[in-house]
Amino acid sequence: MDPDRRWLFGDQLGPHFLDGPDQPVLMVESMSVLGAHRYHRAKLHLVLSAMRHRAAELGERCDYRRASSFAAGVEEARVAHEKLSTVHPTSRSSLAAARALTDEVLAPRGFCSAFEDFTAWAEGRTSLRMEEFYRAQRRRLGVLMRGGDPEGGRWNFDSENRTPPPRGQSTLSLSEPWSPTEDGIDEEVRADLDSWERDGTVRSVGRDDVRRFAVTRDEAMAALDHFLRYRLRTFGSYEDAMMSGDWTMSHSLLSVPLNLGLLHPLEVVDAAVLEYQAGRAPLNAVEGLVRQLIGWRDYTWHTYWQTGPDYTKENALDAREPLPEWWEELDPSQVDAACMADVLTSVRDHGWTHHIPRLMVLGSWALQRGLDPAALNSWFRRVFVDGFTWVMPANVIGMSQYADGGRFATKPYTSGGAYIDRMSDYCGQCPYSPKVRTGPDACPFTAGYWAFLDRHRPRFAGNHRMKPMIGNLDRLKDLPLVRQEVVTRGTAPP
Ligand SMILES: Cc1cc2nc3c(=O)[nH]c(=O)nc-3n(C[C@H](O)[C@H](O)[C@H](O)COP(=O)(O)OP(=O)(O)OC[C@H]3O[C@@H](n4cnc5c(N)ncnc54)[C@H](O)[C@@H]3O)c2cc1C
Ligand code: SF4
Repeated sequence: MDPDRRWLFGDQLGPHFLDGPDQPVLMVESMSVLGAHRYHRAKLHLVLSAMRHRAAELGERCDYRRASSFAAGVEEARVAHEKLSTVHPTSRSSLAAARALTDEVLAPRGFCSAFEDFTAWAEGRTSLRMEEFYRAQRRRLGVLMRGGDPEGGRWNFDSENRTPPPRGQSTLSLSEPWSPTEDGIDEEVRADLDSWERDGTVRSVGRDDVRRFAVTRDEAMAALDHFLRYRLRTFGSYEDAMMSGDWTMSHSLLSVPLNLGLLHPLEVVDAAVLEYQAGRAPLNAVEGLVRQLIGWRDYTWHTYWQTGPDYTKENALDAREPLPEWWEELDPSQVDAACMADVLTSVRDHGWTHHIPRLMVLGSWALQRGLDPAALNSWFRRVFVDGFTWVMPANVIGMSQYADGGRFATKPYTSGGAYIDRMSDYCGQCPYSPKVRTGPDACPFTAGYWAFLDRHRPRFAGNHRMKPMIGNLDRLKDLPLVRQEVVTRGTAPP
């Protein structure tokens, strides 16, 4: 019997989404999806380039259509093909389309655990903390385990993974991160995007830089290999550090090929564990990476489906401020806080910045100023090159904004300038001082931190992790001034 034709969504581009070397494929470039939001230009480029590269690889096996919508593209194709199947897509809207338009929706393939694994783990638990899920994943998958015990006798090496950046230098001095060479397909994508932007079909934000991320399977394998060889060793120690001259630090830049489905996360895990076993990478680095992939990434995936469509509307801290225009426009010239300006520059130029700037600069700023969490969730999804619907809610609504009232995080992730000063080289270049909370030198994060605690004092007074900080509020004589200054601090044009 002829195999089904497989409808591949734009984030299902690796070999594991097909059932054999001869399976015919359908791909649909939907203009309504591309034009639905004002995405980062680099993100539009990456998705289109990845889809078109995949179609070129598949050659005649692939029926590639550009259509006004998924439905229009698939319905046109249905005339020509008999049976159509698809792998479980990664968003509710795509799942609805898959159910309506195909004969069969297969189980998801791009993660390390099935829905059933998560349900079995969650059953009977009152709290669904990531750390417990991660340990269960390690046991179930047998990753970095010695018998029933974790490799090295500990489940995590967090205490070794908080090294501040080396002083007296502006980069980690690693070799340049892997980067691709653009080809004719990129050229065609760029020309199409230019033309669609001119006629208003598509709108974008951010710079149209050269392509920085992998969009084919071969490129993804090359990027993985480069990361293992040159960056994995220091990934653990400098996981949380930020440097103004080093936009990637020791991070892998693999979220794009992973989220496009070009790499399976277990491939990355297995390859990293081999580096450890061969003595080429230390345990704190490899465990740190494994935690992100089988822990955080899968946990984020399952929580998207478990929490339901209303989760992104949760707003436990009643945060209602709209996103400032300089966020929407990715305009660092409106910001004079050195850390925020640098992070926003990276988002403008690359559509990417690593985890700590997302959490402790962008997210913390938004939390302190009460920006609307749903608007922020949408912003992260639109302007980050790795921002896909499923990955946002746990990271933005849960971890970063505490908008679910603490379902995923035991306390809000926010800090004063002292944390940023310890973990970066930004403060030396800033007009503000991390130690100061009022007056012309006051650091927006330090002022913002105290103002945030003050605003939410009743909620956090009973939280045992927040109690000491809430107690410190009563010692601040200048609290009324802190409250007044926080809103606009850090945003005066230079
Ligand atoms: C506010 C906020 C927004 C985020 N938005 C996204 C997003 O849109 N897309 C996205 O893939 N990740 C997101 N993350 C998680 C994380 O910041 C990125 O996965 C990571 O920075 C991508 O860079 P990298 O590939 O170099 O990652 P590395 O630091 O090298 O980590 C390796 C891999 O682990 C996975 N990973 C690590 N942390 C997480 C996490 N918290 N959730 C899911 N996967 C994780 C990613 O696949 C990543 O490629 C967000 C985190 C925060 C706090
Ligand atoms: S002083 Fe404050 S605003 Fe300036 S870089 Fe340091 S933390 Fe950021």
